[in-house]
Amino acid sequence: MSAQATKALVLHQNIRKIAGKNWGISQQHRRILYKTVVERMLAHGAAAWCLKITAKIARKLTSIQRPFLLSITGAYRTSPTAALQVITGLPPLHLQLQQEARHITLTRLKKPLSPEITDIQPSQIESKAKGWTLHPSLFLNTNQICMTDGGPESLADTRAFHIFTDGSKTDEGVGAAYCIFKNKIITHQWKGQLQKYNTVFQAEITALREAIQYASENLKDHQVKVYVDNQASLYAIANPKTKAQIARQIFKNLIDNPNIKVSWIKAHANYPGNEKADELAKEATTTGQPYTVLLPTSHIKSVLKACLLRDWQELWTKGNTGRPIHKVLPKVSLHTQNWSRELSIFLMEHGPFPTYLHRFRLSQTDYCNCGGIGSPIHYATECPFTLSWHLKTPASSNIDPWRKSIAQNKILSNKICELIRFIHQNNDLFKIN
Ligand SMILES: [Zn+2]
Repeated sequence: MSAQATKALVLHQNIRKIAGKNWGISQQHRRILYKTVVERMLAHGAAAWCLKITAKIARKLTSIQRPFLLSITGAYRTSPTAALQVITGLPPLHLQLQQEARHITLTRLKKPLSPEITDIQPSQIESKAKGWTLHPSLFLNTNQICMTDGGPESLADTRAFHIFTDGSKTDEGVGAAYCIFKNKIITHQWKGQLQKYNTVFQAEITALREAIQYASENLKDHQVKVYVDNQASLYAIANPKTKAQIARQIFKNLIDNPNIKVSWIKAHANYPGNEKADELAKEATTTGQPYTVLLPTSHIKSVLKACLLRDWQELWTKGNTGRPIHKVLPKVSLHTQNWSRELSIFLMEHGPFPTYLHRFRLSQTDYCNCGGIGSPIHYATECPFTLSWHLKTPASSNIDPWRKSIAQNKILSNKICELIRFIHQNNDLFKIN
C-alpha cells in the first residue's frame, strides 16, 4: 500500500507542477480526474488488503486522499477532511476501497461476506456469460424472431398455439406469467413470483424462458407462436453474445425447436391474449408460485453502496470536525455539491476571517478593523467595509437555516462568492495594524 501511497503523492505533486494549484481545469473536471485516475490507481489490488480496514490504514488512506480534496475544492489547507468529503460527494477513501474489495470478494472470488454486511451467498448471484452462446456458425432461423407487431395475427391461426408472456414489477413484488391459447381458448397458464430484488427485465425474460421451455416439452409437433411486449428481451435473445444467462438458454432452446417462433407484440393495444398475460403477471407479483432467479449484479452494487453510505453517515454524524458544514449538509451523498471555492471557504469558516486567523494563531486578535468580531457572518451582514455584498441579517435563532439558504440559493451564493473575492483582494483593509 505504501508504494501506491507514494505514487499518489507524486502524481498529485506532478499535476500541481504542470497545471498549477487548480490543475488548470474546473472543479468538476478535477473531481472526475481524481475518480478516474487516482482512485482507480489506489483501488488496484484493493481486494487483498481493504476487506478489513484497521484504524491505522484508514488514517493513512485519509492522508492520501486529503491533498486531492483540497485541490478539488480550493479550500484552505486547514479545512477538515470530513467536510471536504461531504462537499465533494467523495466518501472516505477507506470506505470506497472497502466497498470495491467486498464487491470483488463476493462476485469474482465467490466468497461470502460477513453477515452484518449481507447474507447474500455467491451462488445466488447471476454471473455474466462471456463469449458466444454456441458456435458462431449456429444462428437462429431468420424468421424465428420477429420484431414487428405480431398482435394483428395473434390468435388468427387456429391450428397454432399462441403463447403470451409478460413480467411485472410493483410495490408488492415481481411476477412473471404466460398463457397459452388454442382456438381462442386458454389451454394452460403459469404464474411465477420472483423476489423483490429481481428486475422487471428479469421477470419478462423469465416468462419467456418458461413459455418456451413448456412449448419445447409439450408442443413439439405443433406450430407455436410466442408473444412478448418487451423489445429488450427480444434483442437479448437474438444476440448470440448476450451476457444474460437466461437469454442464452432461450437462444439454445429456439435453435433446437424451429417450430417455435417469437414475436414482439404492442403493449396496451387491446390484444386479448396480451391483456390476459398482463393481468396474470400482475397477479403473479403476489400469488405466483415462488420462483428463484439469480440476483443481478446491479443488486449487489446497490446493497454495498447502501452499506458504504450507512458507514459514512455514521462517521459524519458522530464526528467532531467540520461541524459548520454538518449543519448545512447533515446527510452525506455521492453527488458533489458543486460549491464554488468561495462558498466552501465561507461556509467552512476556514478563510480570510480574523476569527479563523486568530484560532490558528496567525493573528493576535479576532477583531475586524471596524471594531466588530471578524467572523464570516460579520462580513456578510454588518461590516461597513463590505456593505455592497450584505445579505439580510438573520435572527440569532435562525443562523443555521440562513447558512443553509445560502448554499441552496444561487443569488445568495453568488453574492457570498463576490464578498470572499473582495476580502481576498483587499486583505489589508481588514487587518488591525
Ligand atoms: Zn468589520
